[in-house]
Amino acid sequence: MRIIETAEAAHHHSRARATQAVLVPTMGALHRGHAELIRVAHERAGVDGEVVVSIFVNPLQFEPGSDFDKYPRPQEADEQICRAAGVDLLFRPRANEMYFDDGSVFVEETKLSRGLCGASRPGHFRGVCTVVTKLFHLLAPDTAVFGEKDFQQLAIMRRIVRDLNFSIEIVGVPTVRESDGLALSSRNRYLDESGRAEATILSRALEQAKELVARGECSAARLIASAVEMIASAKSSRVDYIGIVDGETLEPTEVVRPDARMLLAVFIGTTRLIDNIRLA
Ligand code: AMP
Repeated sequence: MRIIETAEAAHHHSRARATQAVLVPTMGALHRGHAELIRVAHERAGVDGEVVVSIFVNPLQFEPGSDFDKYPRPQEADEQICRAAGVDLLFRPRANEMYFDDGSVFVEETKLSRGLCGASRPGHFRGVCTVVTKLFHLLAPDTAVFGEKDFQQLAIMRRIVRDLNFSIEIVGVPTVRESDGLALSSRNRYLDESGRAEATILSRALEQAKELVARGECSAARLIASAVEMIASAKSSRVDYIGIVDGETLEPTEVVRPDARMLLAVFIGTTRLIDNIRLA
């Protein structure tokens, strides 16, 4: 596995590349969810293609007062996971490689980013869109793989590629879960034992909503009310948002239609977790 830590070397490498490349952008603290993205990347790249993983805890996407400083950065373990997963190139830039002190150009998506996580985390998606655009330029992938776990992010990535004419295929990968339903996340390691037990409330609320839809419920308001009630039963929980939206436009829907998705963000103690499910 080759490791590149500078923007210049990344540019140089991707300009000289003759094969297909598949990129998996991450912030590290790699887990089985990331490993699944890497597996899908290999599938897409084929035997001759290059699987590229980027690890960068992007300061621009952390709003003030969030967990940028305490975000886990297990560099050695991440490197080993990438080696074991057969990653060809690990791009691991330092922050000063990615941004200029007086940088003044940003990438902003203005519709899909407005609600849900965008409303709770001002500036977050501007940071994500900017860094991913830079990674696309530096690493020149043919395909980029993202998890459905961050469903709003995935929809926004498709929109960036469409609106900015990147010739990159965006591939979405279903959420990888623990056996009790909790979506894998680097932030799960912030949870203590009781928080970890209570965190299953997110996936349980989503499963309940899906079941209600299967039984004929189609009012978004009633489905959201049931989810709020269920989440309230976990005593250290606090709902940040629950939305039912169209899976492509992320526009809120009053009535559940095919492709509708429930997305939610819930604090368990001080840890904010997100999850989502396709309802119909
Ligand atoms: P992160 O390192 O949390 O920024 O995530 C990097 C990529 O991994 C994103 O595309 C995420 O959506 C994806 N990802 C994170 N957790 C999971 C999971 N449990 N299942 C599938 N993909 C995931």
